[in-house]
Amino acid sequence: MKIVLKIGGDLLKGEEPNISLIEDIKEFSKRGGLIIVHGGGDRVTEIATKLGKEQKFVISPEGFKSRYTDRETVEIYAMVMAGEISTKIVGMLQSFGINAIGLSGFDGGLLRAKRKERIVIVDENGRKRAIDGGYTGKIISVNEKLLELIITNGYVPVISPLAMGETFEPLNVDGDRTAGAIAGAIKADYLIFLTDVEGVIIDNKIIPKISLEDLEGALRKIGPGMSTKVHAAAEAIRGGVGKAIITSGFIDRPITNAIEERSGTIICR
Ligand code: ADP
Ligand code: MG
Repeated sequence: MKIVLKIGGDLLKGEEPNISLIEDIKEFSKRGGLIIVHGGGDRVTEIATKLGKEQKFVISPEGFKSRYTDRETVEIYAMVMAGEISTKIVGMLQSFGINAIGLSGFDGGLLRAKRKERIVIVDENGRKRAIDGGYTGKIISVNEKLLELIITNGYVPVISPLAMGETFEPLNVDGDRTAGAIAGAIKADYLIFLTDVEGVIIDNKIIPKISLEDLEGALRKIGPGMSTKVHAAAEAIRGGVGKAIITSGFIDRPITNAIEERSGTIICR
């Protein structure tokens, strides 16, 4: 069973990890085919600020919020994601006997991306404006052979959301999109997003299940953060992934409960 697990940056940081989640990861890693993708945008912002590099965020007309990534920012982004956060997660998992291996999307041609030359943003006055895309990319290919090599040899890859651009430059790629692209490329059975809410909330209720069709209409009721996951989930399902589930990473046995359809929001065909 192939599972791609996206974990929010805060979930496995070390101070107060959800032990039940780590036990669940261990259980599924024994069965083989588990791939982890991590986030950590808040930590990037924290470190960048400490370095005196104020972070800017932009909103697209579709409502996606993203970091404006200039050259200095992508360097800090790589340091924090592939350095600090990856190391912490790998250490945490190894301490529980899980054979985790940190890998950034930049390594071994794992993720190739196309740099966004221009991006359209909505400015403070609500007007649309095209600006330089900076160092952000759209994933165009996944080296699934490299992933197969790692997982069939008993390792659990922990992937940082970084990609290699066409001129070998590092690019910031969204963690949710990265998980979706990888899940699609390996035709995963499950794509599971572990986050800080129990699922997709529509009209004040967590919805247990939603089809791709119904999702279209529901999107305008979904805000930044969650809408990225929902889009990544939809893309993965169209790409051949069995099911995508968005659920809380703070509950008991979050992976088991998601797969047994006892928690979260399931997005299906
Ligand atoms: P992660 O670190 O897991 O990517 P994000 O903060 O990016 O977490 O995304 C999850 C957040 O999305 C939630 O904490 C919530 O504030 C926000 N959100 C916006 N709209 C919704 C919605 N309709 N249902 C659930 N969460 C939503
Ligand atoms: Mg997020």
